Amino acid sequence: MPFNIFYLMLFFVGGLVLGSFYNVCIFRIPREESIAFPASHCTSCGHTLGSADLFPVFSWLFLKGKCRYCNAKISARYPFVELLTGIVFAGAYFAFGLTLALAFHLIFASILIMVTFIDIDHRIIPDRFIIAGLVLAIGSLFLVRDVSWKEALIGGAIGGGLLLAVDLLGRLIFKKEGMGLGDVKLMLMAGLYLGTVKTIVALLAAVWIGAIAGVIILKRRKDSEDRYMPFGPFLALGSMISVLAGKMIADYYLSLF
Ligand SMILES: [Zn+2]
Repeated sequence: MPFNIFYLMLFFVGGLVLGSFYNVCIFRIPREESIAFPASHCTSCGHTLGSADLFPVFSWLFLKGKCRYCNAKISARYPFVELLTGIVFAGAYFAFGLTLALAFHLIFASILIMVTFIDIDHRIIPDRFIIAGLVLAIGSLFLVRDVSWKEALIGGAIGGGLLLAVDLLGRLIFKKEGMGLGDVKLMLMAGLYLGTVKTIVALLAAVWIGAIAGVIILKRRKDSEDRYMPFGPFLALGSMISVLAGKMIADYYLSLF
């Protein structure tokens, strides 16, 4: 399929706009609020936001990261999520072209983007995201069929099984709550979707990103502060990288031997 720069821009802008909606979901879903009502409003002063306030990335830049009405600081997280979604959507189009697989991968990546930031904020992964991912994985086995049933089951067993083992080991050694079953469920779901090879890439990517981020975060935090770091966001990010570039990474890695 010929690559088309117009579609690339379309996917990028579409990603920005959807990323803006994902910000709403990230904020509201763990708080059990409706994602449709009320309309977007400033979380400080409650003022309803107009269309000029809701332009992805640009509104934040134009307003210099402050609410137009009350001057409260607006986190750089919002434009970051929008930009990330835009880049992921454009990258996925670049990698897969206009295919059915692309549609599935975009939904999978979208679930993971929301899971990443909800887990950072609340240290939970709402079950509805896991269920949506499981439905997507099974749908993909029937419709996309680039992962066989056998690969999907092995991927799910590796992802869920490894995290469960780490969790149980943590309980045994440290005599307290391990990583939490949220991570086990997340990787069971992601493993089913990704299949064997991409699941292994996802886990390795999560460990690498987690290790690098861990060093940076722990260095910046004072001893008295909370040193706990959830692993879920790294698992979600690792899975997202793997769905986009897992095959490329695996091929490159194997070519080294
Ligand atoms: Zn405000």
